[in-house]
Amino acid sequence: MPDTVLWLRRDLRLADLPALGAANEAAGAGAVLPLFVLDRRLWEGASPIRRVWLRNSLAALQARYDGALVVRAGPPEEVVPQVVREVGAASVHVTAETTPYGRRRDAAVRAALGTVDLVATGTPYAVGPGTIVTRAGTPYQVFTPFARAWRAHGWPQPAPVPRKLRFVRRVESEDLPPVDDPQVELPAVGEQAAQAAWRAFVADGLDDYASARDRPDLDATSRMSVHLKFGEIHPRTMLADIARAAHPRGNGATAYVTELAWREFYADVLWHRPDSAWADLREELRGMDYDEESEALTAWQRGRTGFPFVDAGMRQLVEQGWMHNRLRMVTASFLVKDLHVWWPHGARHFQRHLVDFDLASNNHGWQWTAGTGTDAAPYFRVFNPVSQGQRFDPTGDYVRRWVPELRHLAGAAVHEPWRAGDGYAHGYPPPIVDHAAEREEALRRYARARA
Ligand code: FAD
Repeated sequence: MPDTVLWLRRDLRLADLPALGAANEAAGAGAVLPLFVLDRRLWEGASPIRRVWLRNSLAALQARYDGALVVRAGPPEEVVPQVVREVGAASVHVTAETTPYGRRRDAAVRAALGTVDLVATGTPYAVGPGTIVTRAGTPYQVFTPFARAWRAHGWPQPAPVPRKLRFVRRVESEDLPPVDDPQVELPAVGEQAAQAAWRAFVADGLDDYASARDRPDLDATSRMSVHLKFGEIHPRTMLADIARAAHPRGNGATAYVTELAWREFYADVLWHRPDSAWADLREELRGMDYDEESEALTAWQRGRTGFPFVDAGMRQLVEQGWMHNRLRMVTASFLVKDLHVWWPHGARHFQRHLVDFDLASNNHGWQWTAGTGTDAAPYFRVFNPVSQGQRFDPTGDYVRRWVPELRHLAGAAVHEPWRAGDGYAHGYPPPIVDHAAEREEALRRYARARA
């Protein structure tokens, strides 16, 4: 039997990988060549931290595939056919890609492969985007009914690792790409690290998740987003583990499944509306009046808006490549509604820095906050950057961790340096806008756009 190629992209793992089973079955008595193509178009836009993460994940993957992984840099539509020729492979196996760029890329590779099949098995989701539709056969526009239908549809059990697995070993790999020192301690990466982190969260974090997940000062969320981004673990595995957990119907488990459903919902929306990646989904708000990119945008990016909770989030983003969900909502709201900057400018900054950057979750998270996307997230719900901090970082620990100029302020006083006599003693900037006034301005612009 001829050998096959398993082209890995957002699925850097061995377990619960249906495409691996398909590649192995098609190879029969032959062998499977695991391939990763370093696509410059995706590599160039990534922050140094994300590059390190990918590089380390590839190193872990190399070990998981017993040293058989082949890494090549170049345009996939050239590299994949080239490797196929070197192996004499009969087919190329992938996990289906569902983002606009991924779909275009795969169509180009399919065309370049000619008579060699590109076979897609499974997706990075529990339920493939495009599968869940209303009774009328139309896509869901609103999260809650989508999530209900998604749960009712259900998902298969995790795919077993094929028992007899042979790898092609006669094809040369390039070295992993060089990366800059990230200057920050990163958590362990790769499939085994993802599984260990997940097991620890199910044992120690899941039960309290519903009550603690909104608190950025506590380490109460799973931090699985980056593992999901690189496909070091599949959500199907996670859902199966939750079903077996101590309290599978407890509040924590239910809340966690709902969060995974958001990830699936946004992928579904993007599948149906690829144009919504970088354009307002809601047509009636396409005429909104925004300010040009400005000094305000730079202050926001640098975490120097003078609003401590916002600035702490923006600094965590750049320093660590990650931000708590509450901060993603508050900082996004601040850019759009206090600074009146169109959401794609903020989404691009997140795209560059987030180690867990995911086009569907990020850009639809932004559209949700901006009120231009799916769902009943009304534009007039404007987050107050001060009271959000007081409520979700009640001790002020989160702000003190990321904003050293405010460490001298005790407790919740850190959220209002203007009230403390020595609030600005260490170079923290005063607020760049008046929140109450900008809130009114945002509402005026919204009313004008709708009129
Ligand atoms: P947990 O609270 O442990 O959640 C578990 C998992 O559920 C997450 O790993 C994620 O896969 C999923 N999830 C949770 N919340 C959401 C959500 N609101 N939308 C979609 N999926 C969700 N998530 C990304 O994975 N990548 C992004 O680029 C991204 N950008 C965002 C931008 C904005 C403006 C907003 C408001 C949200 C964004 N999110 C993004 C969603 C969410 O903030 C992160 O998934 C979450 O903070 C990751 O941390 P965690 O794994 O500890 O989350």
